[in-house]
Formats: sequence, C-alpha cells, structure tokens
Amino acid sequence: MPQWPGGQQGGQAPSADGPSQMLGDEALADAAEAALGHSTDRIIDTSTGRADGLDKCPRCGSTDIHYSLSAKALVCSYCRHTWNEANLEQTYGLDSSIADLRGHTMASGTANVREDLTTVTIKCQGCGAEVVINVSEQLQARCHWCRQTLSINSQIPNGAVPDAVLPFQLTREEAVARIDEFAGKRKAFAHGRFKAEFVPDNVMGVYIPYLVVDGNMHAVLRGTGEVTTRQYTVSRKVGDRTVHETYYDADVYSVQRAFDLLVDDLAVESASRFDSDDNRLATNNVLDAVQPYDVENAVAYNPNYLKGFTSERRDLNIRDVDADVEERFLAIARAKAVPTVSRYDRGVRWEEEGVAVHGTRWVSVYVPVWLYSYADSARTAGSLVHYIAVNARTGTTMGSVPVSHPKIFALACAAGSVAAVLAGIVGFGMYFT
Ligand SMILES: [Zn+2]
Ligand SMILES: [Zn+2]
Repeated sequence: MPQWPGGQQGGQAPSADGPSQMLGDEALADAAEAALGHSTDRIIDTSTGRADGLDKCPRCGSTDIHYSLSAKALVCSYCRHTWNEANLEQTYGLDSSIADLRGHTMASGTANVREDLTTVTIKCQGCGAEVVINVSEQLQARCHWCRQTLSINSQIPNGAVPDAVLPFQLTREEAVARIDEFAGKRKAFAHGRFKAEFVPDNVMGVYIPYLVVDGNMHAVLRGTGEVTTRQYTVSRKVGDRTVHETYYDADVYSVQRAFDLLVDDLAVESASRFDSDDNRLATNNVLDAVQPYDVENAVAYNPNYLKGFTSERRDLNIRDVDADVEERFLAIARAKAVPTVSRYDRGVRWEEEGVAVHGTRWVSVYVPVWLYSYADSARTAGSLVHYIAVNARTGTTMGSVPVSHPKIFALACAAGSVAAVLAGIVGFGMYFT
C-alpha cells in the first residue's frame, strides 16, 4: 500500500486505511469473458516413460548412479559416464509464450496428492523379486536379492515425484563457508551458547518442493490519488507558546489502471510441514528469503538426483496455494502500477483491485537448499531450534541466530520448530533430551 505523505492536517485526505476490496465480477467481466472462451484445462505429461524399477546408466547399464557435486551431473559408479537429464521446459514445451496461455495448463507432476498412498511394490527387473518401497520416505530402494537399485520413475499421486529437479550447484563446503560467514557476522549479537556450539559441519542438503506458476492475466486497480496544490503554515497562540501547523490542499482524483500482466516462474512452497499457519508462514519467510531459484534450468525428474540428499514431499495441491498465488499476482500488479502514478505526489490508495486470469501454467519442481540447524543444548520447554538456509544454486543465505533478546527472533524461532524435525534426521538427537 502506498503511504500517504504529508502533514498532520492532511487537507482532503481520504479517511481511514481500510483494506482494499477485491473487484466484483462485473468489473472484470470483459477480461473474464475472454478468458472463459478458452478455459479448458490441459495436462502435460512430463513422465519420462521409463518404467519403475531399474534406472540404468545409458552407457553401461549399471543402476549404481549418483549425483556428483563436483561434476554437477549424474555419474555412473561403474563406467564414470556423466550426464544430466534434459531441460524440462524445452523438452515439454513449457517455455512457450506466457501471453498465449489460456485456461489452466498443468504438468502431470502437479496432480492432486493422494495421502493414502504410502507404499509401492516394484518387481525387480534384475531378478524378479518384489520389493516394497515406502514412497512417503524414499523413492529408491535396493533389491535385497540382487543388490540392484530400484527407482520410482512414474509420477505416483502422492506428491513425492515432481516434474523436475533443480540440481545442487553449491558444494557442501561452499555452503558451510556461507553459513559460517552468515553466523560469523551475527556472532556479536548471538547467544553465548550458540557461539560455543556452532558446528558448521552439521549441514544437510534438502530438496524442497515448490509449485512454479506462470500467469497471463489482466489486472485492474481502482482508487484515489492526490496531488498537492498548496502547502502553508499557520501559526497560532496556545497559551504563551506559538504553535506552527502545516496544512496541505490537494486535488483528489479517481485513478484507474488496467493492463495485461505476464508473470514468469512464480514459486510457492508446496509442503505444509505443520498444520499451524504460523509455522508455515515463518518457515516460508526464511525459505522465501533465499529465493529466487533459476527454475527455468530445472531438468526432467530422475530419482538419482535425490540420492544422498533429503527431500520433502509435496502435500499441497494447486487449489491449496491458489489464494496465495492470486495475492502475489496482485502484489506484482500493484508494483507494476507504481511508476504510472508518480504524478500523484501525495500517493494513491487502491480501493478496488483484481486480476482476471486468462491462463496459468503449473509445474512441480524440487529446489535445493543447504540447511544448518541449531538446537540450544540447554533446551528447555519453549526454547527453540534455529536454522540457516543456503540457496544451493545462488548461495543466497538467510536464517536465524539466537540472540539474548528472545523477542527479536520470535518469528524466526517459530520457524525453528520445523528445523527440529529435520535436525532429528541429521543426528541432532543429543540436543533433545
Ligand atoms: Zn555406466
Ligand atoms: Zn533383484
């Protein structure tokens, strides 16, 4: 919201700062009608076509494949062949013009999550044994008879298999350096115990699920803007003092802006982690702060990218994040309108706003984060875990460091309880006594 500048006696300034209202349907009728004409949902199948089971090296046929951070590629442990999967957007035509989007286009990895789906049985193509994989925890298993690695390649509807993966770029050492630097700068303010117990080696790589959306829309903003016409100071006596008061005269205008808006690769986190909205908000704040990710470089999903890292399962559907996405679209629209209203020197207040969406395109992508978590060893009821996140593509680092003043980090602390769960996985158990 733009601030109303100016003095205490704001001329004809509009009244209280009420929340702006969403535009009614009729206000956006034209754009909505245009959109309706094309509003067929379209699913783009991004599954690789590979069957579940043996995921073989294209050169030698071995299933012993991992992602190498030094090679920044998948590496076959036998023949050392290295390769990356194809770029998702190019392979599936997801990079076509956003302006041409009509209706909703959804890559198959964004399908609604089925919570009851926890296990998948795969017949080992090596020896014929049947191996059960708990797909809420892992997407690969070793055949207990022939030791081949068996992978889930198909997009089972439990949210665990995305359309694409954005592979790790920063090595663990690089991430540790960033975290050390981040924490180091803040050590002067940090709690004494945090300094003493800071162990940068406790850093784990995590893939976090995001829904990435492109949007083609028409935005409408309506409100009032003010232009100062006169400013003057009035002096008057109050008792034995002289008081000066500044007054502004302003012209008030109705302002409307309507424009087409294209949004490319807006990323929203798609794991709810906890039911509490507060937790989710606070967690997203830290993870949002390490954005953006270069999701246009995401490659088609291959489970071998996940090996050696932890991954979180997507448990939110498109409809769960829809309202959040619309709010962000509106924020982008407001920002885009700002340069067009500079003549209203006392600001513009939008009273009605809305976007008519012509088309959207949704893709489910795993993005890489290096996560350092810290739990106070003198943990008592109500004390919390902190974490520092590093964008494993760009190195952008954000997090919370415990300080002596509990209120400063109240928000970050709420996020910490998420890290507590993750911390348990990396062997921070000793702090939880
Ligand atoms: Zn090989
Ligand atoms: Zn087998």
